[in-house]
Amino acid sequence: MNGTGTLYTVSAPSGAGKTSLVNALIERDQGLRVSVSHTTRPQRPGERDGVDYHFVDEAVFTTMLAEAAFLEHARVFGNLYGTSQAWVEQQLAQGTDVVLEIDWQGAEQVKRQLPATRSIFILPPSRQTLEQRLTGRGQDGPEVIAARMAQAVEEISHFVQSDFLVVNNDFEQALAELQTIVACHRLQTSRQQQLLSDLLQNLLA
Ligand code: 5GP
Repeated sequence: MNGTGTLYTVSAPSGAGKTSLVNALIERDQGLRVSVSHTTRPQRPGERDGVDYHFVDEAVFTTMLAEAAFLEHARVFGNLYGTSQAWVEQQLAQGTDVVLEIDWQGAEQVKRQLPATRSIFILPPSRQTLEQRLTGRGQDGPEVIAARMAQAVEEISHFVQSDFLVVNNDFEQALAELQTIVACHRLQTSRQQQLLSDLLQNLLA
């Protein structure tokens, strides 16, 4: 992959507000797109196939895996999730920045394959807030919530592998911090040099 786009992974325990933050980030930035993962998890009410996820069965997922269709994949809460390699490659080649909203296992795999990837970890502001947010969804029973809480702590324990840590206490501030990370990378000389080649040529003539 030799494109000019930057690849970002955004990881967080469930309940940290990752999806809302990523959606707001994408909405306000035309040069940034989020990858739609494939998953074997059952569709939740309100979710749209092809928009929130590509919902597939295990057989389809396994076939795709055998065909090396995934840049990374992992089993999370008993379900399989994977990122389309072709889609990501295409976007980066076009110069589009790409966000992968994936768990720490996936983020690790992506970083190993593409070391230029910038990994971002989002933390909830407190344990209490995390608990409230997990309960507040109202879609899962107490056992599922307890399991998710344990899983959240496990996910958080991998924070140190990420390049950036953002706390989602105030939504607008966390969003501004994500925008700053993206802006910072766009201003790097290695990237600007390609985009500003005409200007540089002209100035140096
Ligand atoms: P949920 O099923 O609640 O939407 O997501 C559960 C977890 O799976 C979240 O941590 C989410 O970031 C992660 N996830 C979603 N898509 C992918 C993917 O393509 N790869 C990996 N490794 N994790 C994913």
